[in-house]
Amino acid sequence: MAWKLKLFCRAGAAAMALMVVPASAQGPAVNWNEQQAEILRHYRDLVQIDTRSGNETKAVDYLKKLFESEGIPVQVFALQPARANLVARIKGSGRKKPLLLLAHTDVVGVQPEKWPVAPFGAIVKDGYVWGRGTADDKDKLTANLMTMLLVKRLGLHLDRDLIFLAESGEEADPDGVGMKFMVEQHFPDIDAEFALTEGGSTLIENGRVKAVNIATTEKVPRRIRLVATGTSGHGSVPRLDNPLIHLSQAVAKLASWQTPLRFNDTTRSYFQQMSSISPAAEAQHYRELFNPATAAAAQRYLAEHEPQRYSMLRTSVVPTMLKAGVGQNVIPSEAEAVFDIRALPDEDVPKLFAGMKQVIGDPAVKLVPIPNPRSVAPPSRTDSEMYAALERAAHRIYPDAAVMPMMLNGATDMSYLRPKGVQSYGIGPATTELDEINYGAHSDVERLSEKSLYEFVQFTWNAAMEVSAGK
Ligand SMILES: [Zn+2]
Repeated sequence: MAWKLKLFCRAGAAAMALMVVPASAQGPAVNWNEQQAEILRHYRDLVQIDTRSGNETKAVDYLKKLFESEGIPVQVFALQPARANLVARIKGSGRKKPLLLLAHTDVVGVQPEKWPVAPFGAIVKDGYVWGRGTADDKDKLTANLMTMLLVKRLGLHLDRDLIFLAESGEEADPDGVGMKFMVEQHFPDIDAEFALTEGGSTLIENGRVKAVNIATTEKVPRRIRLVATGTSGHGSVPRLDNPLIHLSQAVAKLASWQTPLRFNDTTRSYFQQMSSISPAAEAQHYRELFNPATAAAAQRYLAEHEPQRYSMLRTSVVPTMLKAGVGQNVIPSEAEAVFDIRALPDEDVPKLFAGMKQVIGDPAVKLVPIPNPRSVAPPSRTDSEMYAALERAAHRIYPDAAVMPMMLNGATDMSYLRPKGVQSYGIGPATTELDEINYGAHSDVERLSEKSLYEFVQFTWNAAMEVSAGK
């Protein structure tokens, strides 16, 4: 492992030298080659701490010891002893409101038999670090940690406080021990003008970084149950009010129904930029979305070939569960389907549900909303100081890349911050599309390239210093 790392360092030295941050723009220069060993050490240490949901305090203990040994004060907030959150703060002059660097410590489960290496070994092999949490979210945790340590060691004068938050319970939080707890009970300790966290992505194509996607908004989960009721009875006697029949007809009607295509500022900018950087054939599909005469065909193409991008175009309505029946010869009195609805941030939800009822057109089928704990907030701005800093930071590290805002189809903990007025931006390290699919967050085997890790730490540092370093 060690020799591989050395080889990489030498090969990367020329490229890295170009990336040394000029002293004038973002505080003093950092020699990033010298930081690599420490970045890798903390990253591997954190991956090796098994923090499957319910064990986050183990990572908090590691961070607490480290921060305190460097003279950075910390606070630990725990609703449950094993699921603590940690806040560290480096004070600035107060000229500007703080910047929050947020990452979660918990990871999802593993099926060890599917891994070619130990899932919590943080093995370095073939230029990658392998392990649960390498892409979600210990890369961001490490980048935020290194940013704090470097600011403190360099004795930088800051215009705003830097707040580091290691949160628990991002992956699974039935008791509200993570972001919900912090926002509801300790918000003054994390209140900030801007937040940087997971959710963005950076795409490598043909060996070069092509696009840096910054998550500025996300869809809102609005799940529902469809409940059909009828008369129970013997399976030998057909009944017109059999709830299975009514329910399956309702599911089929909703499946062939399409919510309207609707852009917002983020998705409009995203598809416009994608159409200018993509190969001709793909670019044409993205362009055709904006032309009413060709939009339907372009959407069909995306639905078939690029379902992620198709989902960005509209509120999605997806059946995910069916529950019915108690015996092969019994007609049940009730049948139920669950729909995972992901609403555009500005969706008129009562109107959406009314539309669905109309499509179903069957009084035997009731639509029952499942309560949504997340609030809704407008997208974070793309004309903010933070967004401009992210653009500049991205261009310094990936000079050929297009930087574009993106709407997430899934939900993140930014949904707790945006309603409190914190302009929140999701960022992520560089990966190929294949790596993202096969080795990304929550996949059977998770890994991140060492080079991407080092670049991501620099990206985070550059962006943080752009908005915080004293002028
Ligand atoms: Zn995550």
